[in-house]
Amino acid sequence: MEKKELLYEGKAKKVYTTEDPDMLIVSYKDDATAFDGQKKGTIVGKGAINNRMTNHVFKLFEAEGIPTHFVEELNDRETVVKKVEIVPLEVIIRNFSAGSFAKKLGMEEGIKLLQPTLEFSYKNDDLHDPFINDYYALALGLATREEIDDITRYAFRVNEIMRKYFAGLGIELIDFKIEFGRYHGAIILADEVSPDTCRLWDMETREKLDKDRFRRDLGNVEDAYQEVFRRLGIQ
Ligand code: ADP
Ligand code: UDP
Repeated sequence: MEKKELLYEGKAKKVYTTEDPDMLIVSYKDDATAFDGQKKGTIVGKGAINNRMTNHVFKLFEAEGIPTHFVEELNDRETVVKKVEIVPLEVIIRNFSAGSFAKKLGMEEGIKLLQPTLEFSYKNDDLHDPFINDYYALALGLATREEIDDITRYAFRVNEIMRKYFAGLGIELIDFKIEFGRYHGAIILADEVSPDTCRLWDMETREKLDKDRFRRDLGNVEDAYQEVFRRLGIQ
């Protein structure tokens, strides 16, 4: 399958149409942004790592019965995916306190939560992705009750699969963000799962192996992405 027209260029990926109206090609970039796009940079090799890591974990999800947009990896950076109508919700699951959660609740980072949490942000750059709940989503017509129930169920299952999988690689899954879409009437997992969208800490040293190294100028950003990729044992 080949790229036709550039449909959308986001902060981390380009999305192209193909000859098949049901299929898109996503092309992962090395560009990195943080804080609503105010901080910009490049993480060399990130595009290939995020593409290959996303496809790897999406295949694990499929094997566990979670439908995803994955169709075919074309090369290091490019993948054919099912074209969905993105549900404008960022779905965030947390196992440990970190980031905005820790800040909001006056907690240290890295405290294990008594149970995993789920929260929604309304995916809207102009509004800076505000925190909302399922009643807001219903009231605003962002998704139906049935869709929210599917999303919630899939998100917690994705968490269980990933938590166990990463634990086996010596990585603690602190939190992550996922997005879902509508494909022929059904909810499927879309977008990506990568060190850009997850907080991943080394289980022994608690070293951060994710985009926080870029956000917080911690150094060794490329090394952290490479280390996660190495532990996945793909290739
Ligand atoms: P952003 O839009 O936040 O800058 P990206 O650079 O990752 O993010 O751009 C990719 C865009 O493509 C995102 O808006 C994402 O919601 C969307 N997207 C991801 N998967 C699909 C898909 N299967 N079909 C349609 N759109 C998708
Ligand atoms: N996240 C993301 N995209 C966003 C916001 C958050 O991928 O636009 C991820 C982030 O990498 C982390 C999790 O979602 O793994 C929770 O992020 P948080 O709400 O703590 O926000 P942050 O501290 O990153 O602003």
